[in-house]
Amino acid sequence: MAPTTNGQTPAERLLEILGPVDTFHDQEALGDFGMPARMMTEHLLEPVAKGSVTSRLGPLEKVHAFWFAGMSCDGCTVSVTGATTPSIESLLLGAHPGLPRLILHHPVVNVESGPNYLRAHEEAIQGKLDAPYVIILEGSITDETLAMDTGGYWVGQGEEPWGPNGEHRTVTTDEWIARLAPGAAASIAIGTCATWGGVPAAEGNPTGAMSLMDFLGKDYRSALGVPVVNIPGCAPVGDNFTETAAAILYFLQGFGPLPEFDELGRPAWLFGDTVHRHCVRGAYYEEGDFADDFGDKECLVEIGCWGPVVNCNITERGAINHHGGCMNAGGACIGCTMPGFPDKFTPFYTRSPGSAVSSTASRLMGGIIKPLRNITNAHLNREVRWDREGAVPSAWSREKSEPGVVADVFHRFYDKLRRSGDTARNPGEVWGKRVEATQRSGGSATATMAADDVHDRIGNGSDNHRADES
Ligand code: SF4
Ligand code: SF4
Repeated sequence: MAPTTNGQTPAERLLEILGPVDTFHDQEALGDFGMPARMMTEHLLEPVAKGSVTSRLGPLEKVHAFWFAGMSCDGCTVSVTGATTPSIESLLLGAHPGLPRLILHHPVVNVESGPNYLRAHEEAIQGKLDAPYVIILEGSITDETLAMDTGGYWVGQGEEPWGPNGEHRTVTTDEWIARLAPGAAASIAIGTCATWGGVPAAEGNPTGAMSLMDFLGKDYRSALGVPVVNIPGCAPVGDNFTETAAAILYFLQGFGPLPEFDELGRPAWLFGDTVHRHCVRGAYYEEGDFADDFGDKECLVEIGCWGPVVNCNITERGAINHHGGCMNAGGACIGCTMPGFPDKFTPFYTRSPGSAVSSTASRLMGGIIKPLRNITNAHLNREVRWDREGAVPSAWSREKSEPGVVADVFHRFYDKLRRSGDTARNPGEVWGKRVEATQRSGGSATATMAADDVHDRIGNGSDNHRADES
């Protein structure tokens, strides 16, 4: 995939071939065509949305969001409609204090269709839109110059009178993006196909599929100076998108700085850690317990999990509404959030070469640590009274023998060790009292003296006694 030709980005090259556009649909002549509700989605939601915008504090009342689909399975749309913190509905209704409401133009969810659906797109290109806009891409960008050679196209959305002599022609997703990106307040890629090319850009790649960054080039900046924002995942966690969108909206409203993004434009607070660090199976890995088959409860690294080297937050956030998500639900990580996905992770569900070293180390370490933990765990599962009496008064524990001599010695040793630092029982420095005691003795007291003094006072309750006397 060559992102630039003669120093041009694929977007610039496409626009050079297509040329500028200046003819648009005659809105008057269109009337209600393609509007079963006889109004646009924005106007349909307006009465409810305006009612909830009671505490708008910034300059923006609304921000348009143009959603485009490239080479996509629509999984990103499904994820985002399931998001809960915040939900897409609350963003559309302007339900968050101070946040401008989102006017979403989405080919699946809007009620208007055809040329009326494209009305706001046209106004944005002409600079006539009544509010700032952002563009959102799910699915990868195709190289439409390849399809043009045969007179076809890969991915399109609607028709415009931009053909020779004003004829209508299909407008590709690439063309919409290339024309709208320079004027957008932000350009957001959602899902791994849009962020890094993903499955359509895997080896072979007949459509020349690429990411939004590859298409717009490294020098791309939005109208507000923001590079492409990337929220990867296949499908992504919907909340990762809505949370980032809300943070960007707060930025546009002037309520806060631009949130922190990493060197690849990922929200740093969401993708800074590996998924392994928050995995529910992490303790199995640490103790060297590994699953042989899917369905086992242990760590999945030996049957193909790449979690230790993959930036993703699904184990802590869940897939939807804090539920589910890969290892939580029994699946191994195949690295779907990563720029190297899928080619650098295939064949899936086979042990990665690097995991042999770390899992062997975990096995060795776990072989020592796990038995020690088991002994301590058995000890902590007993009341002190049961230790003293040498029996557990539970019918459930009849089958379980009392600790043997070795375990008993270990438990006693462990208890001694634990209580050796107990300052309530031993003379020792008590935090916060040292200065006070030192000052009282004219600055010459040693730490031990000060501690002994405090200990004595606590021990015999002399202060309380004096207080009572007074
Ligand atoms: S299942 Fe994967 S992410 Fe979870 S602990 Fe094992 S290697 Fe790490
Ligand atoms: S855990 Fe791995 S496979 Fe699952 S969403 Fe995260 S990166 Fe993708």
